Amino acid sequence: KKASWLARLRGGLAKTGQSIGSLFIGVRVDEALFEELETALIMADAGVEATEQLLKALRLRVKRDRIEDAEGVRQALREVLTEHLKVLEKPFDVGRVKPLVVMITGVNGAGKTTSIGKLAFALQHSGARVLLAAGDTFRAAARQQLIEWGDRNNVNVIAQEGADPAAVAFDSVHAGRARGMDVVMVDTAGRLPTQLHLMDELKKIRRVIAKADPTAPHEVLLVVDGNSGQNVLAQIRAFDAAVGLTGLIVTKLDGTAKGGTLAAVAAGSQGVRPVPVYWIGVGEKIEDLQPFVASEFAAAVVG
Ligand code: GDP
Repeated sequence: KKASWLARLRGGLAKTGQSIGSLFIGVRVDEALFEELETALIMADAGVEATEQLLKALRLRVKRDRIEDAEGVRQALREVLTEHLKVLEKPFDVGRVKPLVVMITGVNGAGKTTSIGKLAFALQHSGARVLLAAGDTFRAAARQQLIEWGDRNNVNVIAQEGADPAAVAFDSVHAGRARGMDVVMVDTAGRLPTQLHLMDELKKIRRVIAKADPTAPHEVLLVVDGNSGQNVLAQIRAFDAAVGLTGLIVTKLDGTAKGGTLAAVAAGSQGVRPVPVYWIGVGEKIEDLQPFVASEFAAAVVG
């Protein structure tokens, strides 16, 4: 089971014109190898900052450990990348408060609805009782998608057509408490950071959730499409500034050549705060959501 999603993650991340893993095959350790690695990391959208940091750490390690073969360099890069990405690794702690109120944000098409379904499935599987709030009160299709999903999986969904999304969020926190739920997940409509009135609406949802429970929301997640490359940084910055992110879900890593973006996030490139990556999406099926583990991700990138 584990092997299959890791293979998909690896397959996706190896899609760069110059697969990083293939660079180590049958070559000597010389300047040309480091230059090719540099190019490959840039192509994978790691960005200049993270690429320079990684190459510097790699060169130091190769020198320190007197590594002379390409396979040794591969191993060293895997370690260097793992250490670099560690800052993003954080377990999703459900039991610390009841109900845990989770607000979920993102741009349209990022995989928000799918990820909410997957996450609710995973949390229910681990024994938590989950309530969903359909915060997209304008798009009937989005609401319907969530309701159908809830029906299939025996998860209650609170939805009110045409209602104020903040009001739905407020009601769901109260309902979650009254019904003894462990987790209340509040979906929000997809929006672009440039749609300022919609970003204001998001702030309002957050404020109103806090009226229902002054300690909430306990988690504010941003769902980002792993294919968005460096644009992910702009999204994180904007949503973080508006509502204060506590974590990321990075989707579609089974089909992207841009896995390097996470190295850029870890490096805090372009003024981004290294927000933890709780989960990664590695497919369209319900079980295709996995916790982010730096060593696994690094192994998938480097081969
Ligand atoms: P939303 O607009 O953000 O709610 O996006 P959706 O949840 O509707 O997802 C948009 C598309 O991306 C759908 O076709 C999903 O099946 C697909 N998708 C979401 N997550 C993943 C993933 O991890 N891997 C793959 N391959 N597809 C995904």
